[in-house]
Amino acid sequence: MASDCVFCKIAAGEIPAEIVAESDQTVAFRDINPKAPVHVLVIPREHQPDIASLAAASPAVAAEVLEQTRVVARQESYEDYNIVFNTGAEAGQTVFHAHAHVLAGVDVSKLFL
Ligand code: 5GP
Ligand code: ZN
Repeated sequence: MASDCVFCKIAAGEIPAEIVAESDQTVAFRDINPKAPVHVLVIPREHQPDIASLAAASPAVAAEVLEQTRVVARQESYEDYNIVFNTGAEAGQTVFHAHAHVLAGVDVSKLFL
């Protein structure tokens, strides 16, 4: 755990969050500033600064993050959804603990792609 990391603190239960799913290696909770009808963040319990670092250090945990995005979407009653990994400050990342944004109820791809 990184002592100054807000997402490590959420995973440890030291900061409140609306947790919607947990697995051995991940925690999923609602984004505090939702950008879509469903906006959930899936994080590894392990602290890594971004998804690329997580995939390099612990590929099985990165795979579990991906699997949990599907679990969360289904739980929220969505078959179709977007996954966004902002990776690096110039790409808009503001919290440097790896996280998947799970977005459903709006076609995010139309905004960017
Ligand atoms: P990033 O821009 O780093 O990809 O996304 C970070 C996300 O974390 C943002 O969408 C922001 O709203 C969310 N966030 C930041 N701090 C907190 C917090 O303390 N609790 C929750 N639930 N979400 C947070
Ligand atoms: Zn962390």
